[in-house]
Amino acid sequence: MKTSEERRNRFEDSGGTASFERGVNSFYYVLVCSRERAHLSEYEMVTLQPVKRSYIDSPWSIQDSANLYGVNDWGKGHFAINDKGNLCVRPTLEPTRQIDIFDVIQGLSDRGLEAPLLLRFDDMLAFRLRELRTAFDQALKEHEYTGQYYCVYPIKVNQQRHLCEQIRSLNAELGFGFEAGSKPELLAVLGLTANMNSTPIVCNGFKDSEFIETVILATKLGRNVLVVVEKFSELELIVKHAKAYGVQPKIGVRAKLSSRGAGRWESSGGLRSKFGLTVAEIVAGVDFLKQHDMAQCLRMVHCHLGSQVFDIRNFKHAVTELGYIYAELRRMGTGIDTIDIGGGLGVDYDGSQSAATSSVNYTIAEYAADVIYRLKNVCEDAKVPHPNLVTESGRYIVANSSVLICNVMGRSHFDVQPDLNKIRGDLSQLQEKEQPQPVLDLIDALERITDRNLVEVYHDSVQARDEAMSLFSLGYMSLPLRAAAEQLFWAIGNELLRRARKKDRFPEEFEDLPQLLSDIYFCNFSIFQSAPDSWAIDQLFPIMPIHRLVEQPMRVAVLADITCDSDGKIDNFVDKREDKRVLEVHELVPEQNYYLGVFLVGAYQEVLGDLHNLFGDTHVVHIRLEDDSWVIDEVVHGDTVREVLGYVQFDADELSRVMRRDVENAVKRGALGVAESRALMDFYDNGLGGYTYLE
Ligand code: PLP
Repeated sequence: MKTSEERRNRFEDSGGTASFERGVNSFYYVLVCSRERAHLSEYEMVTLQPVKRSYIDSPWSIQDSANLYGVNDWGKGHFAINDKGNLCVRPTLEPTRQIDIFDVIQGLSDRGLEAPLLLRFDDMLAFRLRELRTAFDQALKEHEYTGQYYCVYPIKVNQQRHLCEQIRSLNAELGFGFEAGSKPELLAVLGLTANMNSTPIVCNGFKDSEFIETVILATKLGRNVLVVVEKFSELELIVKHAKAYGVQPKIGVRAKLSSRGAGRWESSGGLRSKFGLTVAEIVAGVDFLKQHDMAQCLRMVHCHLGSQVFDIRNFKHAVTELGYIYAELRRMGTGIDTIDIGGGLGVDYDGSQSAATSSVNYTIAEYAADVIYRLKNVCEDAKVPHPNLVTESGRYIVANSSVLICNVMGRSHFDVQPDLNKIRGDLSQLQEKEQPQPVLDLIDALERITDRNLVEVYHDSVQARDEAMSLFSLGYMSLPLRAAAEQLFWAIGNELLRRARKKDRFPEEFEDLPQLLSDIYFCNFSIFQSAPDSWAIDQLFPIMPIHRLVEQPMRVAVLADITCDSDGKIDNFVDKREDKRVLEVHELVPEQNYYLGVFLVGAYQEVLGDLHNLFGDTHVVHIRLEDDSWVIDEVVHGDTVREVLGYVQFDADELSRVMRRDVENAVKRGALGVAESRALMDFYDNGLGGYTYLE
């Protein structure tokens, strides 16, 4: 038997480098980087070759768990596994200041707060904001850029009060502000920034007369508001209200660029986007402002390429185009001094750091450096001063500070052993010509598996299974025999997988088998409420157990939520190399909770979440580091059943009243005893006041 060391040497001798990693379902891979492919990127250089488990000689370790779940890839140093095998958060990246998530969950359970829970790590949020500031400060310095940089946090990404207040608490230190995209958001931001006159506020989105009048009056109050024109008629309203109140507003225009973003929100930009003014309209707008002697009020040009822009080239193109528009607007005699490149700064959800929809092919430092460098070049080329730069980064700031924790309520599995004697007995009750051939074929397939005929048996059994299902649908096969066919097929699949894993190469034909035979783990949460993008747009979020990581996970599963919707499942998991359709999980232990974490869910998920099946908001717990241990900053209790019923116009008191009447009638009829009626009403009333999830 070769040791892992010997194998590694062999690969290295052949001109490349190699390392071992454990992959899906305890299957082992050797990563080979060969010299011939060295011109490719590091990611592409990696070739996966499954190898026998026996080549790997060390026992399972927390490092194996970290590799398996890609903790260091998507976690970017903010997550690590401690010696107890629990996942920890390192909000400031310092290894000595970490929060054991399992410890937090137990602590919250002791306080009566059970999963599902959304944990928000406030220090992580602060870290991200400072990281953004530092990246731009360094880029400004390196390129001797003379304009200022600031970020306005777009509250649409997560409007929760505590989170916005935390961002506000750092505004003075960082010079950041807020972006509002609608009337309610503007009213929230104005209230949030009371007495903070220097805090920049950018107003995007479609606006009516009342919205614009509010902005003009807020400017008169002394607030630093930049109102961005999305359509020409807004400019007319701005001029009208500004004149009426004698205010010199700060006006921005959103430009329809020819540059586009990339990925799911690509259509937010481009010439056909629903937002912004064409260049012709901008030119007409400048003339209009000049006619009203307000050209100096035009201060900013804005664009937004869409969210999660995964390719840095899209930013480079847009900044260049926007830079030239800025230069032209300056030459036309406007007061323009600022460029706003919107949001779009993406998050590396799958840890691959590549141009893929759930990833990004740049770092925060590259983003800042590239944007500043481009802008500087354009301005120097056009001989105009460097403008101030604004970004509206939302996802990047808040995504990684929130973690959803859910407990697994149970599982269904497909590794049942068919009772061959019983199946044969059932068959023998039938006339020979009535015995369904596919069932006989499946028995035969199961009995003739050897290491040499795995693929052949697989093809035969798939065909037999399909024929069995057709026979049943046509009414030619009984329900017990259909059940037997299913069980035989699963047993064959499991045996094929078991044997294939011992081979040097895993047959390509078996690619779908692990998913087909995987367990279904039922998790106490609603995808529609807590991770809606996973359902709506196949957004990947890292998911992994938050404890037991010293143990090798011996099962693979897809995850199902507790809604009664077949879409309420997750069967796509992050992996930096390939599509992973199953998640490695631990065997469930009776009477012990098993917790999974869904990570990087801080952006968009809470507000986009819906009330499918009337599962409401989960509890949200804000956790802070204090003297190197964790403390609860605030608990926002999730919706009660009473509340969610109220959202759909049910009156819980009225429901309780009619229910009691019905129960009393049942007592009168003798259908229920008095104690039973009391128990039922207690359940009913307690249920109305309780959590919407399983407790
Ligand atoms: N700015 C505008 C105008 C937006 O529409 C959005 C959201 O799509 C953002 C900023 C935030 O984008 P992100 O969260 O990708 O940074």
